[in-house]
Amino acid sequence: MIRHTGTGIAVVLCLLSLSGCAGYDDDGASPEMKVKLDKYTTFRLVADLSGLTDEQRKMVGVLIEAAEPMDEAFWLQAYGSKDELLGSLDDPAARRFAEINYGPWDRLDGDAPFLDGVEAKPEGARFYPPDMTKDEFEAAIAESDERRQALTSLYTMVERDAEGELTARPFSEAFSGQAEAAAAKLREAAELAQEPGLKKYLSMRADALLSDDYQPSDLAWMDMKDNTIDVVIGPIETYEDALFGYKAAYEAYVLIKDMDWSRRLSRYVAMLPELQRGLPVDAVYKAETPGVESDLNAYDVVYYAGHCNAGSKTIAINLPNDEEVQLAKGTRRLQLKNAMRAKFDKILVSIADELIAEDQRKHVTFEAFFANTMFHEVAHGLGIKNTLNGEGTVRDALKEQASAIEEGKADILGLYMVTKLHENGELGAEPLEDYYVTFMSSIFRSVRFGASSAHGRANMIRFNFFQEQGAFSKDEATGRYRADFDKMREAVDALSRKILELQGDGNHAGARELTEAMGVIGSELQSDLDRLAAAGIPVDIVLEQGKSVLGL
Ligand code: ZN
Repeated sequence: MIRHTGTGIAVVLCLLSLSGCAGYDDDGASPEMKVKLDKYTTFRLVADLSGLTDEQRKMVGVLIEAAEPMDEAFWLQAYGSKDELLGSLDDPAARRFAEINYGPWDRLDGDAPFLDGVEAKPEGARFYPPDMTKDEFEAAIAESDERRQALTSLYTMVERDAEGELTARPFSEAFSGQAEAAAAKLREAAELAQEPGLKKYLSMRADALLSDDYQPSDLAWMDMKDNTIDVVIGPIETYEDALFGYKAAYEAYVLIKDMDWSRRLSRYVAMLPELQRGLPVDAVYKAETPGVESDLNAYDVVYYAGHCNAGSKTIAINLPNDEEVQLAKGTRRLQLKNAMRAKFDKILVSIADELIAEDQRKHVTFEAFFANTMFHEVAHGLGIKNTLNGEGTVRDALKEQASAIEEGKADILGLYMVTKLHENGELGAEPLEDYYVTFMSSIFRSVRFGASSAHGRANMIRFNFFQEQGAFSKDEATGRYRADFDKMREAVDALSRKILELQGDGNHAGARELTEAMGVIGSELQSDLDRLAAAGIPVDIVLEQGKSVLGL
């Protein structure tokens, strides 16, 4: 059990906020690279482990060791050899920046190359041969069901065989060294686990890394309820595959559950079916019943590795992604409270100071930020997972658009939920205006992630949609934004409806149209972002983390 302070913030988070302190020795660093690095501010992830047993402390260390190979595997999926790239760079700032980005492309700047002589990042990262075209892939998967399954699998690399034909290579084979190393550590952690659910999950997850069959361990993870320590590990999210969104990227989070907060969060889950019925869309788009076994918990994250550590850091997770597991067991939402508080204090407050009308700034609060993020995660469970034409999942139908549309759905339906629960007196005493103004401020924070991030693109769409609807307006004299609460409520309903219909109809062309028309940064928004950059407000955090930081 973690000890709590009066504010409910359990973690001792040490913030190093000196400028240019993204964790490198700046001797000989070029000024251009320093400017790029200043987009990040460093955080030392120190959690209070004093409530853990000796076994649990030991287990945290072993799980961090299990996470490390996921970092190596992700480098290979995203770029290639980490050592080769870093070894070729003399500029220490460039080296550090490459490390943060897991390659020579700036994740906060639409994956623009930041090293001379580096070409554009392949849309499909290293999941596909660099010379493969979309047409070639589509033709190959049309050859047979077997080919389609193998080549579109979440867990295969697409390569060329000796004849130049496309062929699928299982992750467990392509990354056997990393998978075996991580699996061995997971088994070691399983030995230390006292809680039977955790013991079972850890050993099944080890099996999964070696077999590429993740469903049994996903089910075991959902069955596990009483564990204080947790780990999310393996190939999970598909955002790195911007070509088709088929391939999962390796990552790991090592987590310590905040039991108090988790109890407070759990009561909202019971309200999901009612909220689903109230969605502002035609009945056919809300006919599915959200899983009520879903759970929602707060954690302190003590280690990030691989995809989740690349560029911007995740502050909330919703897993598993496997639709079959979701329909059977619901999903688990993990709120990374320490990472969230850090981003609020160091980034969002500064953004609000620059861009939000003075009289509305008091509405930017951590409580609202926490709630909005929490409901974003809940809202992934709302809406529709299978298209109305009965031909499969929304994710398959919307292909490369699926992630941005789904993130946009979760953001907007999260605010819909906040509005409903506030109306019903379920949210506490804070005024609804807090949630709305904090939500608006968050858009500016998130568009800074760039168009290469699903979250960044979703926020661009929302910014443009909201502005068009008059949900907020910019005061020309001060250059600051003011929310119009009535119009914002209408815009929430309108955008919710639009997204739910795109998903239910499996309307890939419509989703692409929306992204192309609205998932962009116009000149005015760009000038606002330039102001934030000029004010020296970091975009994101990099972590000083690991066993030594935790004193393990
Ligand atoms: Zn999300």
